[in-house]
Amino acid sequence: NDVVLKVEHLTKHYPIKKGVFSKSDACVHALEDASFEVHRGETFAIVGESGCGKSTTGKCILRLTEPTSGEVILDGEDFTKLKGEDLTRARQKMKLIFQDPYSSLNPRMTVADIIAEPIDIAGTYKTRAERDARVEEIMQAVGLDLAFKYRYPHEFSGGQRQRIGIARAIVLEPEIVVCDEPVSALDVSVQAKVINLLEELQDKLGLSYIFISHDLSVVKHISDTVMVMYLGHTMELASKQELFDEPLHPYTKALLDVIPRIRHERIQDKKILQGDVPSPTNPPAGCVFHTRCQHCMKVCCDRAPEMREVKPGHKCACHLFDEGLTEEEKTPVSI
Ligand code: SF4
Ligand code: MG
Repeated sequence: NDVVLKVEHLTKHYPIKKGVFSKSDACVHALEDASFEVHRGETFAIVGESGCGKSTTGKCILRLTEPTSGEVILDGEDFTKLKGEDLTRARQKMKLIFQDPYSSLNPRMTVADIIAEPIDIAGTYKTRAERDARVEEIMQAVGLDLAFKYRYPHEFSGGQRQRIGIARAIVLEPEIVVCDEPVSALDVSVQAKVINLLEELQDKLGLSYIFISHDLSVVKHISDTVMVMYLGHTMELASKQELFDEPLHPYTKALLDVIPRIRHERIQDKKILQGDVPSPTNPPAGCVFHTRCQHCMKVCCDRAPEMREVKPGHKCACHLFDEGLTEEEKTPVSI
């Protein structure tokens, strides 16, 4: 399976302005050293609680926010270094679907013009007829009635708006679509339809998805590979099968323990673990999860675990899988 996107050591720190109360150069550690590969035609899910760095990862990949360091290799080029026309051209290969499509749809534009905007800007078609034919083709592909062409976003339901957002995202035939909580704002009955549409389009167009979600039951359905994040750090990375059947990281296990039994419960409404997520401005030393981990050892408070391949294709950042620890380092610490 060929790699369509390779992310290397991607990091984002947001500086906090020096003020009366903070004299130091504090910063928010939003994303720390993320490395992963996305294969052509796969759905790569990024999961974790809100504020764990999922959206920051998506935004840094697309350069909606500039990463502090790291590389995003797209078709052999480092996307983070591109400028001018090269950047514009590369941007056509990666598109975004938002959580709330409505906020991203211009209320004064018709559905047809919204969907056509990317091809209008890119100047893809020479004639009006070709352009209109493409709009109709895409509307049909996403299940929008052609009678809606000259209507406005406010006339549509959430699910239909998301179809408009998807149509706009794929009209230029990108290679990668970053889907940031694409169904979280929708009713459960509509969620399944939009997920099915995304899968259908993936098969038809060979799209690769980076699927950002806090909802593990959705991720279990749609993903091929899953990366779990906590406080900006990557905790675990494995195939969906491995991650759900044989989770290794204590944080992943805790997340899986609270997968809602009833579909309409939302993880964000439940308390996943004891204690609050620490502030990303001042993350815990050592393993960032150690303040909430039931397996915390002495070493966890001092030294950050590295992301390592524990089983073939299954990576995890946790000292429980370090073989070289001393008895002293393994001393349990109660939290
Ligand atoms: Fe828990 Fe230590 Fe593993 Fe962190 S490194 S998850 S604190 S056992
Ligand atoms: Mg799929």
